[in-house]
Amino acid sequence: MEVLESMNNTMAFRRSARTASLQVSEIVRISEAANALKESGRDVLSFGTGEPDFPTPEHVVEAAHDAAKNGQTRYPPTQGVNVLREAIVEDWKNTTGVVAEPSQVIVSNGAKQVISNAFLASIDPGDEVLVPTPYWTSYSDIIATCQGVLKPLQTHAKDQFCLQPETLAQAITEKSRWLMLNSPGNPSGALYPRKSLRELADVLREHPQVMILADEIYQHISYDDFTSFRSIAPELADRTLIVNGVSKAYSMTGWRIGWGIGPSEMISAMTAVQGQATSGASSISQAAAVAALQGPQDLLASRLADFRERRDFVVDQLNATALLHCEPPGGAFYVLPTCSEVIGKRTAAGQDIGSDADFCKYLLNDYGVALVPGRAFGAPGHFRVSYAYSRAELTEGCARISKAVAALS
Ligand code: PLP
Repeated sequence: MEVLESMNNTMAFRRSARTASLQVSEIVRISEAANALKESGRDVLSFGTGEPDFPTPEHVVEAAHDAAKNGQTRYPPTQGVNVLREAIVEDWKNTTGVVAEPSQVIVSNGAKQVISNAFLASIDPGDEVLVPTPYWTSYSDIIATCQGVLKPLQTHAKDQFCLQPETLAQAITEKSRWLMLNSPGNPSGALYPRKSLRELADVLREHPQVMILADEIYQHISYDDFTSFRSIAPELADRTLIVNGVSKAYSMTGWRIGWGIGPSEMISAMTAVQGQATSGASSISQAAAVAALQGPQDLLASRLADFRERRDFVVDQLNATALLHCEPPGGAFYVLPTCSEVIGKRTAAGQDIGSDADFCKYLLNDYGVALVPGRAFGAPGHFRVSYAYSRAELTEGCARISKAVAALS
């Protein structure tokens, strides 16, 4: 004990400037608060996290088991095993029509590491990253870690939260290094139509200093036609990075396999970064990802149909309350309703609802429903509902939200 204390006293740990602003994400904080309430015996429904409730398909689990038994247990190549990179280009060709070489693919520990590799490999302090807002919370933390500057580009519910070309054109400066495009999007569910992507590409054509990171991790959870940014803008191929993975489509969030497809020079630089951080992604998970991509694909359609029903149910239930409003989003498994009409109301216990965060706190503490306030995504006045939960949980959760809203005065 004494020895430990004296070590602590001499420890001169201080956070680096590039990580000083990093905090536990609001999504994690809310899910921890929900768990603490559950542990104390409260009945809490949590709609906070972004992971499908379906199991990983059985044949994928079998493939991982076989890989472990057959000795695929050595360091894999940093860029990813050939057989997986070949499966990725084949799948990409089949689903988007775009042709790439396995050498243009990097496999990482989830899509998140692909994004972080790309920014570590290319951002200098002060470089701008243009981010349509609302955005997935990790984007801002990854950019901060790389000492980049996040420039939010506001999107609006009336445009289905899609970035407008004039907003993009006005925002680009000489310091702009990247534009993030996330379709289908988290947290809004925005699905960019082909025409919108083409209009954005026309703006980008005039600005060769801007690279494009198209995060298409929710590709297979699209209720209308999905268009890969790369398929409509082949002339921007030498500065486009596509990000995708197995986490969402195949319910494989814990296997940590994502990939990037981009120009060879970019992929080599990202591979060098990954080589010094984590080396190649787990060999067993890579074997599982091959099975996911090469195995039966009909599960994607049946899970999509299930998600669509849940989306329609949640949207109808929320719109049936007098004060919450949302449109059915085009993709992913989130809705981002506005709660601006709730702000300014008072709870039955006499507490004022002054913000989206207050509303979410009220729902959690008084009604046992955990949701993420829009401010976490740069969208104050909104809240995010993940509907990757069972129909029974969604039915009960929506009933509680409806009662909570009705009790406000
Ligand atoms: N991109 C977006 C938009 C996400 O919502 C997520 C996960 O929530 C990811 C990337 C990360 O995916 P992975 O779990 O493969 O790292």
